[in-house]
Amino acid sequence: MVRVFSGIQPTGDGVHLGNYLGAMLGMLDLQREHDCIFAVVDLHAITLPYEARLLPQRVLSVALDYLAAGIDPQRSILLRQSDVREHVELAYLLGCQTTVNKLAQLPTYKDKLARHGVAGLGLLAYPVLMAADILLYRAELVPVGKDQLPHIELTREVARAFNRAFAPLFPEPQAYLTSGAVVPSLLGAGAMAKSVPGSFIALSDEPEVIADKLARAVTDPARQRRNDPGEPTRCNVYTLHGLYTPVAELAELSGACSAAQIGCLECKSRLAREISASLAPVRERRRELVAHLNDVRDVLRDGARRARPLAQATIYEVRRAMGIGEMENEK
Ligand code: SF4
Repeated sequence: MVRVFSGIQPTGDGVHLGNYLGAMLGMLDLQREHDCIFAVVDLHAITLPYEARLLPQRVLSVALDYLAAGIDPQRSILLRQSDVREHVELAYLLGCQTTVNKLAQLPTYKDKLARHGVAGLGLLAYPVLMAADILLYRAELVPVGKDQLPHIELTREVARAFNRAFAPLFPEPQAYLTSGAVVPSLLGAGAMAKSVPGSFIALSDEPEVIADKLARAVTDPARQRRNDPGEPTRCNVYTLHGLYTPVAELAELSGACSAAQIGCLECKSRLAREISASLAPVRERRRELVAHLNDVRDVLRDGARRARPLAQATIYEVRRAMGIGEMENEK
């Protein structure tokens, strides 16, 4: 069976709509007929400043989101990345084969560096850890959003370089794009991102929180007053409508906006209702899971237990191919 790997970072308030539409729906599709490993990638979350005391709670929150969205731990492996230490070892070994220049050119690194002003070694090496996450399990498919495509390409390059230099151990993984949609930020520019407060709607947000976040969302900047005609193509709220609102209603909305027949508040309320309704089953399942948090912790422990032998087998072969850790063969 084709193996799939995907990870979500435990930053902010759990999984957001961008993760859900961009990657998680793909995971749900794939878990039916593939051998899937899903991870809460906490080692990625420490590449930027973070609060250590909040991290375990955030890991649990993402695990809850995975399960509430429909990931089935009987069928797939769900684990916490740091519980399988081989992720770090493989990242170091692959990092030794990856140039700093290459990593420094990646758009996500440049973007984070511009936002935070400084970067630790972990932030620069983040894509190598991501490559290690995937290659550790020799995954062939990776459900991701469009913004992660450069990282998948880097993973393929890392795999190719290793195979050429040492031994043909790794498949070159393919990206699995779910909707192809980049879910826009509520702040008007870019995509929803957990690292940007105010930019996203979380999967666990209650209807009133969704309505409140949308009420503050940036719209067409040229529409200053209710009577100004709007331009839907310049408005992220309208782009979000495109992901949730039926086509006929969408056309009506576009016409009403352009003719100033609808105000932004009403337009946003309609969107809030659509999003809340679509997430209602996920919220309901999440509430049930929250009442049994120890079971969720057990799912993560069991996932790591099942993943470790796979990871150890890869590390064993990588070390042998690289000529390290084989003292008994030395003359
Ligand atoms: Fe955007 Fe809707 Fe306002 Fe038009 S009416 S500018 S689509 S929020």
